[in-house]
Amino acid sequence: MTDYEPVIGLEIHVQLSTATKMFCGCALSFGEPPNTRTCPVCLGLPGTLPLPNERAIDFGLMIGMALGCELAPRSIFHRKNYFYPDLPKGYQISQYDEPLCRGGHLGDVRIHRVHLEEDAAKLVHAGSSGRIHGSDSSVVDFNRGGTPLAEIVTEPDVRTAAQAREWLTLLRATLRRLGVSDVNMEEGSLRCDANISIRPAGSATLGTKTELKNMNSFRYIERGINAEVERQEALLRDGHEVVPQTLHFDPRTEAISSLRSKEEAHDYRYFPEPDLVPVAITEEMLEQARAAMPELPADREARLQGLGLTADSARQLAWRTELGDFFEAALQDDGAEPQPLANWVTNELVARVGEEDPATTKVQPAALAKLVALVAEKAVTSSNAKVVLDRLVQDGGDPTSIVEAEGLGAMGGGDELEPVVEAALAANTDAAEKIRAGNPKAIGAIIGHVMRETQGRADGAEVTRIVRAKLGL
Ligand code: ADP
Ligand code: ZN
Ligand code: MG
Repeated sequence: MTDYEPVIGLEIHVQLSTATKMFCGCALSFGEPPNTRTCPVCLGLPGTLPLPNERAIDFGLMIGMALGCELAPRSIFHRKNYFYPDLPKGYQISQYDEPLCRGGHLGDVRIHRVHLEEDAAKLVHAGSSGRIHGSDSSVVDFNRGGTPLAEIVTEPDVRTAAQAREWLTLLRATLRRLGVSDVNMEEGSLRCDANISIRPAGSATLGTKTELKNMNSFRYIERGINAEVERQEALLRDGHEVVPQTLHFDPRTEAISSLRSKEEAHDYRYFPEPDLVPVAITEEMLEQARAAMPELPADREARLQGLGLTADSARQLAWRTELGDFFEAALQDDGAEPQPLANWVTNELVARVGEEDPATTKVQPAALAKLVALVAEKAVTSSNAKVVLDRLVQDGGDPTSIVEAEGLGAMGGGDELEPVVEAALAANTDAAEKIRAGNPKAIGAIIGHVMRETQGRADGAEVTRIVRAKLGL
């Protein structure tokens, strides 16, 4: 049986977080009442003229720089013509053969191009709003129409659904770090289409592709790609062909349905927008974009690995800027080793703050550094350190004082611990027998008993040592 290899190219639409729309002075909309953020330009009334948003062009240049693209010395807008109720002019102002940025790469995926365009308005279908009468009617909210978009198109370099998801996570982290977009998929400020084909493994020619549209979470994208790859494999195995078309993936049922047959560039009758002059990209604009360039997640990841962090820790910290910042602030403090500190940030701290920025909670970076140092010098056990961290996140303060005030300090070994271990062995003769008979897991019962008796202040390794000594092992 032929083995097939998936080939995937991604197209990402990013709403740019400028103050105003792409070609008019309307403020961007964040859930305002429908049709309150509109003007004659973005409503497409006759006689109006578009004016490009300079900030959107700056943001486009920053994206291009971050992705290592070649930036065009001049950029031209085109009209992309199609008729749909979300497009009042009957065309979208977009870019065609002279996009702002070409080439480049992010990680192991090459970028084909990045161009600027305007978003369409939003159709609201009956049933999704109580305000609409008639079960088959739709209404249009023009607030979104004209919002600046950057469209990022990759080369077909992605090979698996999981790789697509991971790469998109890096792209989102990069865009967030650049500060050019809210990159929120649920709110639609980041939208992704996946182009998918399969080919016999080892083949160098591309198969016929389909396009999965507008999935609104990375998880759905991963599942959607997997489902579409399976569908295409079944077609080819049964001797059918893949029909080029635009598809919808329903994450609830895993069903894939056809939205429309694939349109071609000539369907859009592109022509240069006569109401806009070509945008000249000046040295001054480039200089400004260069100056605004922060350290990007991929670079930070490499730098953190250079500190000796594992690839996984470096990635988790670098791809969430606020976690990386917290970690690096804590590292400024003497005492904590990088890797244990990173583990505490990515595991225990994240478990407590969730998606929130830890800097907005009460815990200070220096306090976490100190707590990690206390664990390292065995002044507090890691289970009690978690209790201390609960306090730090909720109320702030200093770990040493919390340990003292709440009696959470680790017990010394030997003398203090021995009688407790003896009592635990006496109370768990079964477990003691099993340990003696060579079942090391049975020691869990003894450690558990000791921990209960000591309120988590005993050191597990020390308990194990005493148990083995007592049992003559
Ligand atoms: P179209 O003209 O159909 O829009 P493009 O050549 O512009 O196609 O490519 C759109 C996206 O599809 C890009 O991300 C590209 O990498 C990807 N792509 C192109 N051909 C294939 C293919 N055979 N299989 C998977 N992805 C593809
Ligand atoms: Zn407007
Ligand atoms: Mg195309």
